[in-house]
Amino acid sequence: MARLLGGIEAGGTKFVCAVGEASGKVTARVKFPTTTPEATLAQVFAFFDQYEVAAIGVGSFGPIDIEPQSATYGYITDTPKLAWKNFDFLGALKVHYPAVKFVWTTDVNVAAYGEYLQGAGVGKQNICYVTVGTGIGVGYISHGKLYSGRSHPEAGHIMMHRAADDDFVGVCPYHGDCLEGIAAGPAIERRNGKKGHEIAPDDPFWQIEAYYLAQACMTYTLTFSPDLIVFGGGVSKQAQLFPLIRAEFAKLMHDYVRVPDLELYIQHVKLGDDAGITGSLLVAADAVK
Ligand code: ADP
Ligand code: ZN
Repeated sequence: MARLLGGIEAGGTKFVCAVGEASGKVTARVKFPTTTPEATLAQVFAFFDQYEVAAIGVGSFGPIDIEPQSATYGYITDTPKLAWKNFDFLGALKVHYPAVKFVWTTDVNVAAYGEYLQGAGVGKQNICYVTVGTGIGVGYISHGKLYSGRSHPEAGHIMMHRAADDDFVGVCPYHGDCLEGIAAGPAIERRNGKKGHEIAPDDPFWQIEAYYLAQACMTYTLTFSPDLIVFGGGVSKQAQLFPLIRAEFAKLMHDYVRVPDLELYIQHVKLGDDAGITGSLLVAADAVK
């Protein structure tokens, strides 16, 4: 019988834990809010204690330390969620499950990997996954491998060319009006006085949002040269954004580099909200192959 695999999608607002198969198929899952590390991990253990898994893929909110030689490898590092700052997340999991193999990466990376193998990225080698939700995060897969440098990309914090007459100051505690600071969910709520899903699809605000996301697509195109840019996260559920982003992207790029047809090049996730948990099972599957 094939061995059971585990996945943890550890988000800043909610955790999803699942067990499933190497195909990425989920056979059981639970979802609960992210509270303190102790209380949240108690729920993680309560779930996985019911199963015997060979490996668990962990996609964590961050920033996290993914440098194996580092003294704080496996830690969540600089998060504004203070209870989790400098928390040895991977260490706590390993103490509870000493026989289990762990794959440790970001929540964005597992979602990128899920979309790469089973979503919009099927058949592609180089995909840039961008989540626009509570924050903006980027996972890049280059020739089938998750890219990292010294650490994982933090490409949601790039600086932007401001739209004409847009003087919104931005909400990023580190940079103010970086991309995340002006275009993620909390920024949308602050500038409009209501949440993204409450704003009409034809509201002129979406043009501004699209302008910033198109600049991001331009930067990622010029730096990574992907086959495909896939958007996930709550804000990307606004389908009217996609034609606007493609049109702004075309204007900004002036055909400087060749990219595929924009309908194919800039897409919404195919796995929807399951990209992350599917990807966490798939990275676990790779670890025991
Ligand atoms: P997280 O980033 O915590 O994993 P999400 O990707 O759902 O979760 O992002 C939550 C953010 O996205 C919130 O700021 C929320 O207001 C916004 N959001 C969620 N759903 C939508 C939607 N359908 N349209 C626009 N914004 C949304
Ligand atoms: Zn920032």
